[in-house]
Amino acid sequence: MKDCDPPPPEDAQDRRSVPPVICYPVETLPQPDLALYAAARRTAKKVSEVVVSPREAACFRAEAGQFFRISSIEGPQVGDLNLWNVRDLSERFYSGKTRALHGTHLSIGDRMWSSFPTLRPMATITHDTLGWYGIDPYGGSVHDVIGTRCDPYTGNLLSESQYHHCCHSNLIRALAHECGLTAEEAERHVHDVLNVFMCTGFTRETGQYFMKASPVRPGDYIEFFAEIDLLGALSACPGGDCSSEHSSDAAACFPLLVEVFSTDPATLADWHSPGVNGYDRSHGLG
Ligand SMILES: [Zn+2]
Repeated sequence: MKDCDPPPPEDAQDRRSVPPVICYPVETLPQPDLALYAAARRTAKKVSEVVVSPREAACFRAEAGQFFRISSIEGPQVGDLNLWNVRDLSERFYSGKTRALHGTHLSIGDRMWSSFPTLRPMATITHDTLGWYGIDPYGGSVHDVIGTRCDPYTGNLLSESQYHHCCHSNLIRALAHECGLTAEEAERHVHDVLNVFMCTGFTRETGQYFMKASPVRPGDYIEFFAEIDLLGALSACPGGDCSSEHSSDAAACFPLLVEVFSTDPATLADWHSPGVNGYDRSHGLG
């Protein structure tokens, strides 16, 4: 409680003891066919790769039905991932709705959902070598959709800094180069991320967002099945393993590897790229 808070009412404990209800029960959520994806994965051939330099970002493309893998290769490093529909940048990863559907941290079988009005799976997590981590005693876990992305505006707000290699700026530069956009145009498309390999949570006492040293080690990876044709951008966060700080060049930083794999189309004969959301979009206006 803060000093300015009013005194609790007599039935405060009764009100607090009401059990929670899951906001979005996922029993009716379309489930990925992980066995089908696994069969397709066995036919995979690497078609491209890009190494993301420390404190930089890089773009990659993955067609519907392909896989993309993000690996730690030289040292513990977290990555900030943006996804777009390759033909329409206005369809992009929706971190908040993904959090509402799957929880604060993603793991195998969870999807990365797109923004309104499409709200469909963009990618499905099929492998995660950090899946063993679970939830630690601090309430921390990996691959979060609760943070945003480190950015120069918050740094300026808190310490009047002018730092140009936060993930927000890295993603802007990568998208600008990939699509021939100005920084101002690219900035409109950069969005809240999946924090790949990042270990985060909220403190029990104050509810504050915390980070701690990522458990990722070289050789660890997370792999995704592309549900639609994707343009992705990954930033190797200036925070490195995010054990101390970001928004500066102080932390040790390492590259990340992104690899894209094609599959034998015959293995996906019974699979269809998901269509856009079925809501009629009249919004009660008739
Ligand atoms: Zn960052």
